[in-house]
Amino acid sequence: MDQEDKSTTTDLQTMNLAEFLQTVPPGQSRLVTDFGTAGFRKDARSIDVYIAVKPPPVELHCERCDGLRNFRVKDGELPDAGAQDHYLNYVCSNCRTFEKTFSVRLKVRSDPPQSAEAYKFGEIPAFGARVPNRLLKLLGEQSDNFLKGRRCENQGLGIGAFAYYRRVVESQKNEILNKIIAASRKQGALEDTIKALEEAKSEIQFSKAVSSVKLGLPASILINGHNPLTLLHTALSAGVHEHTDKRCLELAQAVRLVLVELAERLTQALKDEAGLNDAVSQLLKAREASG
Ligand SMILES: [Zn+2]
Repeated sequence: MDQEDKSTTTDLQTMNLAEFLQTVPPGQSRLVTDFGTAGFRKDARSIDVYIAVKPPPVELHCERCDGLRNFRVKDGELPDAGAQDHYLNYVCSNCRTFEKTFSVRLKVRSDPPQSAEAYKFGEIPAFGARVPNRLLKLLGEQSDNFLKGRRCENQGLGIGAFAYYRRVVESQKNEILNKIIAASRKQGALEDTIKALEEAKSEIQFSKAVSSVKLGLPASILINGHNPLTLLHTALSAGVHEHTDKRCLELAQAVRLVLVELAERLTQALKDEAGLNDAVSQLLKAREASG
C-alpha cells in the first residue's frame, strides 16, 4: 500500500467545522479542531468527553437564491451530545426555505485537545458546486463525460475523476484551442502565438500539443498569471498509473478548476470584444447621423 494513502489522525488535514462541511466531499475524514460556537464538556475526570455543538453557520450555494448565501442550522443543538453520528439540518438565512442536510460522524480525540476526527457520510443536495453552463458549452459532446468525472470527484474517486477529465480534455482539445485562438485574435495576440496554437491542433495528444505553445497568451485568459494550457498540461501529463488515488483526486480537482476558470475567461474575452464592437459601431453611426 502506498504511504500517501494511509490516513492516520496525525496526517489528517486540520480545519474548522464550517470548512469541513463546506469543502470536504462525502467519504472523507478530516481533523476538526475548531467548532465555532461549539463547546466541549468535561467528565468527572476532567477529560473532554463530548462536543455539545451548535453547528457553526456555513456559506453554501442556495439554489433558490441562485448564489452563495449564509446557512444556519435549523434544529439547534445536536440531538445527542454523547453520540458520534449526527444529522445537521441547515436552512438558507436569506430565503429561509432552501435546506441542506449533512450526515457526519464526529469522533472526539484527546490529541490534540478538543479535537474530533470528522467523517462525512453524505449530504443532500449532493456535494459540489454546480458545473457552470458556459463550461458545459465549451466541452460540447464531452460534457456528459465531464459530469461523470464530476460525480467521481464528488465521491472521492480520484482515479476515475482523473481518467474522465483527461479523456474530456484530450477529446475536446481542438474545440478548446479554437476558442483560445478566437479570444487571442480578438485580444490582439502576436501572430506567432496564433500560429503555435493552430499547429497545436494537429497534435493528437493534448500534452504534446500544448508543450509547443510556449508563447504568451493574452493576459485576459491567463489564470493567476499562468497559461491555462500549461496548467492543464502539468496536471494531465503523468499517467493514471503513476499516481495514488489521492493524488489523482487532487489533480482532477485542479483540472476542473482550471477548466471552469478558462471557460469563464474565454466567455468574457469574447463577450467584451463583441460588446466593444457594438459600442464602437453605435458611436460611429451616431457621429455619421450628427455629422
Ligand atoms: Zn436562499
